[in-house]
Amino acid sequence: MLESISAFYHGLDPVMQTTLITTPLLLLAVAVLLVLERLFPYRKGLPFFREGLWVDLIWYTFFQSYLLRILIFGFIIAPLAARFGSQLHLVSSWPVAAQVGFFVITHDFYIYWFHRFQHSSAFFWRTHEAHHSGKQVDWLAGSRSHALEIIINQTIEFAPIVLLGANPIVVPIKALIDAVWGMYIHANIDVKSGKLQYVINGPEMHLWHHADHEEVYYANFSTKLAIWDWLFGTAFLPDGRKPERWGLPYAFPKDYFGQHVFSVRRYDEVALAAHSGWFRAYHGLRWRLLSWVGQRVPAARVFQGWEVREDAHTTVPAPRPGGNPSGPVAAVSASAASSRFSVSASS
Ligand SMILES: [Zn+2]
Ligand SMILES: [Zn+2]
Repeated sequence: MLESISAFYHGLDPVMQTTLITTPLLLLAVAVLLVLERLFPYRKGLPFFREGLWVDLIWYTFFQSYLLRILIFGFIIAPLAARFGSQLHLVSSWPVAAQVGFFVITHDFYIYWFHRFQHSSAFFWRTHEAHHSGKQVDWLAGSRSHALEIIINQTIEFAPIVLLGANPIVVPIKALIDAVWGMYIHANIDVKSGKLQYVINGPEMHLWHHADHEEVYYANFSTKLAIWDWLFGTAFLPDGRKPERWGLPYAFPKDYFGQHVFSVRRYDEVALAAHSGWFRAYHGLRWRLLSWVGQRVPAARVFQGWEVREDAHTTVPAPRPGGNPSGPVAAVSASAASSRFSVSASS
């Protein structure tokens, strides 16, 4: 038995062998973070089945990641490697650990500046606002990233790894580090890392980045290394205070496709559902399906999720890049969430 497992493992290429190790490590990290979220919650009472969990898990984590991996590696990086790959072998002779460290630090430096740029450019804000739209931030909330943001950032992340001649196993190792660190900084864990927060970024600062507070609209851009925020004057870490408001100061669609449409054209989800039968049929599909399952299997009712009050603030302290949408979009208030559910449920 053990011999056949060993023979199977050694018959795989090094990337597959590495993936067989990184995948269980990823699952282990998820389990550890989930336990820590329950034991030491940053915000008490945040449910596991929080608002938007299914959108983040099914659409962003599985559907979008799968498609974009094919696009980025198959249609962008592979042609680049075919054209330039054999000429650049700058890091080939380095130990794997040095290669991983080099790409983690350089990409993290890039992502700090691109993230900061996204917060100050009206155009690029539209590729980032989805990431800020969740009002209940937890281990999976970081997966919510606009497709264009992922295409840009992952191409810039993985193309150099391939083009500079890194060991191919750097790709799955780097992907594991990204996933675990990304889940960690968004996790609802009350971490107090003291002086370490000057170097290693964690939920302490990144949860503030997801707050709807004027003082953090242009702060805490770091992902893995908090050092960039401290170096470039964008760190915000108040003593003993936690955010009171989360997410965006304006109404934002709840649905994966709706969120991407909203980045191109502003629209009011509730008003559209009120006058378009087609949109209503599509918009209410998941709710109707889950209600149907829930009626037959009571235990499955948990999958319907919870209704969350979406108090759009009447006073918006500072506009997000490009200004906060005004008119019907901004007018969507506390009634929006409940009417959405009644529209969905009754259609
Ligand atoms: Zn941001
Ligand atoms: Zn985030």
